[in-house]
Amino acid sequence: MTANFDVIVIGLGAMGSAALYQLAKRGRKALGIDRHAPPHCFGSTHGETRITRVACGEGVEYSPLALRSNVLWREIERETGADLFTQNGFAAIAGKTRAAKAGNAEFLEVTIAAAKAAGIDYELLSGKAFRTRCPAFNVRDDDEVYFDRVGGFLRPEACVTAQLGLASKYGAELHMNEIALSFADMGDAVRVKTATGTYTARMLIVSAGPWLGELLDPALMPGLKVTRQIVCWFGVKETARFSDFQAGRFPVFVWQVPAPQISYGFPALGTPEEGVKISTEQYDFAVTPEGVDRVVSAAEAAALYDEYVEPYFPGLDRTCVRADVCLYTSRPDSRFVIDRHPAHRNVLVASPCSGLGFKHSAAIGEALAAMACGEPHIDLGAFRFPDAP
Ligand SMILES: Cc1cc2nc3c(=O)[nH]c(=O)nc-3n(C[C@H](O)[C@H](O)[C@H](O)COP(=O)(O)OP(=O)(O)OC[C@H]3O[C@@H](n4cnc5c(N)ncnc54)[C@H](O)[C@@H]3O)c2cc1C
Repeated sequence: MTANFDVIVIGLGAMGSAALYQLAKRGRKALGIDRHAPPHCFGSTHGETRITRVACGEGVEYSPLALRSNVLWREIERETGADLFTQNGFAAIAGKTRAAKAGNAEFLEVTIAAAKAAGIDYELLSGKAFRTRCPAFNVRDDDEVYFDRVGGFLRPEACVTAQLGLASKYGAELHMNEIALSFADMGDAVRVKTATGTYTARMLIVSAGPWLGELLDPALMPGLKVTRQIVCWFGVKETARFSDFQAGRFPVFVWQVPAPQISYGFPALGTPEEGVKISTEQYDFAVTPEGVDRVVSAAEAAALYDEYVEPYFPGLDRTCVRADVCLYTSRPDSRFVIDRHPAHRNVLVASPCSGLGFKHSAAIGEALAAMACGEPHIDLGAFRFPDAP
């Protein structure tokens, strides 16, 4: 069979937009298909900001992806003029009583190990010393703080827009608002059926985020779960010093607070009234992307404020000025899968990326493009399918 395309990418969010850009840049005939028109607010890649950190408390094996992505974000910024990446520093905070991040109570310790392994500069501060530097954080004197200046935040919608723009500039075909219904391995090609057409390619990349379960056999990823996450922006009190909440004095953070889950957050990007984004995580209740409740209730925002915001950021007001619902897609061990489909050698899968994938997405896209083209790529051995040999 003669394929119409070199590579088809299903899903053009964080992973797919990066892969499509990298394929097009390599001169491949690439088609990107998305059921919506990314960037959009129905999947996992919206809400203004994403933390990026090279020292990953999830494991030392993630750092090469983050380091490579940092280089790529800067390249994309230079090529497009877009503002994507702000390096305002990253703090990992933990006290004697601490929440586990996605089941990992050693988040602080692994962060330090990852910084050492990656060779980045960092400081270990007492809570008291950190509070002097970053007064908005109500850390306890005996809290432990890891701090580096390599971390910061990305603007996810702008990253997706920039990469899709470049993909298009380099010749990729983009089909928005078109649902891919199925794919079939034809031996020397892969056939993709959508609601409006049929396409063939030598290789297929499936990066469907929270919709992944609709396209793959569930037995491939036992326990795959989509969970509803809420994020809220809280206004800065008139009595507080606003500059304490701005990027110069407010790093991105993961805080193992004494509560059921960690909290994380970002500096104020606008006015005091536009607020500061703070959130936590939940892994208990499964949802579907089509059935999920996309409205954050006043009670949910109030509960977040009471448990995770007021005790730690007394300068933030109870008023929730903006809220979003977003989706995590996780395996029980919260690990990525970036691998060749075990039954179809011409199909690559990139997901699920839980609550930590965005920072790595530029490098994941590059690796997927290289795999699809048979080129050398960054080591992905830690991110195989669960039962892969
Ligand atoms: C609240 C929240 C906070 C987070 N915070 C961080 C953070 O601070 N740092 C970090 O690194 N990561 C973070 N993450 C994780 C990160 O955002 C995700 O790992 C990443 O965005 C996932 O990207 P994706 O490409 O897998 O999915 P998506 O971006 O959702 O893309 C999937 C795409 O596939 C399309 N699609 C699905 N099915 C089909 C189909 N059948 N046909 C055609 N198209 C289809 C969808 O429309 C969508 O555009 C966070 C996630 C959430 C929800």
